[in-house]
Amino acid sequence: MSTIFRNIIAPLSMAVAVMMPATAAAPQVRTQAPGYYRMLLGAVEVTALSDGTVIIPLDQLLTHTTSAHVAEVLASHRLGTRVETSINAFLVNTGERLVLIDAGAGTSFGAHAGGRLPDSIRAAGYRPEDIDAVLLTHIHGDHSNGLTVDGKAVFPNADVYVDEHDAALWLDPASRDRVAKGHAHTVDEALAAFAPYRRAGKLKTFRGGAEVMPGIRSVPTPGHTPGHTVYEVSGGGQTMRFIGDLLHAKDVQMAEPEVTISFDEDAGAARRQRETLFADAAARGYVVAAAHTPFPGVGHVERSGRAYAWAPLHYSALQ
Ligand SMILES: [Zn+2]
Repeated sequence: MSTIFRNIIAPLSMAVAVMMPATAAAPQVRTQAPGYYRMLLGAVEVTALSDGTVIIPLDQLLTHTTSAHVAEVLASHRLGTRVETSINAFLVNTGERLVLIDAGAGTSFGAHAGGRLPDSIRAAGYRPEDIDAVLLTHIHGDHSNGLTVDGKAVFPNADVYVDEHDAALWLDPASRDRVAKGHAHTVDEALAAFAPYRRAGKLKTFRGGAEVMPGIRSVPTPGHTPGHTVYEVSGGGQTMRFIGDLLHAKDVQMAEPEVTISFDEDAGAARRQRETLFADAAARGYVVAAAHTPFPGVGHVERSGRAYAWAPLHYSALQ
């Protein structure tokens, strides 16, 4: 080794030797930032918010298919059968009102699933108490349990809007015996989640199709639950539809919209609603915001023959 070379290499290797242990000892962080993603729809600001994720065994939950087929399709997308599924909510700032669409799971799924929505709201520049209205796509734990934590309203200044059919089913204690055994827990969870809002006179039910507030129209899509609702927001010549649980497993149900899920109250109707929405979204080209497609859950539906595909919205840092 020439002297010149040694003079360069030796200090370098010393530097490496000094730096290596420090690098190896740095603790791994292993968390994501609170999730939000901002979009503008004309003068309307829409912020996708992450409530975190929940791991669900899709091969056990999807119906009108077989576990083996679901496993095979998921493998073709490089996924196992236990799929980490996003829980997304959306904040719509109309310029006059701050409206949250769906409220996340709160603490009901335990420490490692859901429950991050309040942090995501704060990271996005708002506070839970700033929210004027919560619009629920439907009543189910991952959409409505986050209304209330430890008996306290998480959104103390908000009116809560839900289709009258979901309120009639899930807020009636007698429904424990009317729904499938595995769905009865939703009644108890809903009674607890809505309690502070009902006491304060802040529960507002509506009939599907109503303009819930200026610029936000409800589209009744009963099936997954009897009052399942899609919300449509328009601005600047663009339209966005918040589709709630018309889609749970994009890697299976986009190509095979006839596949349903055991959480559906009426699987046949849920399937028809999904097929109608996909056909409409593909034909009209509006942006779809979905509760359970990977965060931020916004994209377009594209048609290819009888099947559909999900095209995530192109990333933008410019607002
Ligand atoms: Zn859901």
